[in-house]
Amino acid sequence: MGVWDKEGVPHKGWRCVGMVDLGEDADDMDFNTRKDELYEKCEMCNQEGVRYVHLMQHPEYQGELRVGCICAAKMEEDYDLPRQREKNLKNRHMRKMNFLKKEWEQRTNGNYVLKYKGKYITIIHSKFNKKFLGVVYDGTSIWVYNHKKICDLRTAKLAAFDIYDN
Ligand SMILES: [Zn+2]
Repeated sequence: MGVWDKEGVPHKGWRCVGMVDLGEDADDMDFNTRKDELYEKCEMCNQEGVRYVHLMQHPEYQGELRVGCICAAKMEEDYDLPRQREKNLKNRHMRKMNFLKKEWEQRTNGNYVLKYKGKYITIIHSKFNKKFLGVVYDGTSIWVYNHKKICDLRTAKLAAFDIYDN
C-alpha cells in the first residue's frame, strides 16, 4: 500500500518539481552488480522498480512524494509530460555513457585533455594531494562530484560531462 488511499493526500493538482535518474552514472556492469541501488519504490502506489523518480509537490501537502511515471501522470493529469521527462533522462544517460567512451589525450604531465568548443576540458591532479582530481574548463575548476571529492578518472569524466552537456 502506498499513500493513494491515505487521508489528506490529494489525488490531483500535483506538479513535478524535479526528476532523478537513479541510474544516471551506472553502466551495464552496474546494472548487473548493484541493481538494488538503482531502483526504488513509488511512494504513491508502492510499485517497485522505479528508476526515473518524479518529485511531486502539492500546495496542500507538506514535503514531496517520489513517484513513478504512471502515478505522476495521474497526479498531474497529464499523460505526455511525465513520459517526455523520462525520455529526456534516458537520452541524457545515453549521452553520458557515450561521453565516457571518448578518448582523452594524455599529456606528459599526467593531465588528460579533451577539446570542446575550441577550448580544452582538462583533468588535473591536485597540487596538494595527488590522489584528488579536478576538472578545469574556461577558468572554472570542479573538485567535487555528488558531494564527494573526485578520486578517480571515471568520476572526473562524469563531472566533465556536466560542462560538456549543457
Ligand atoms: Zn506509483
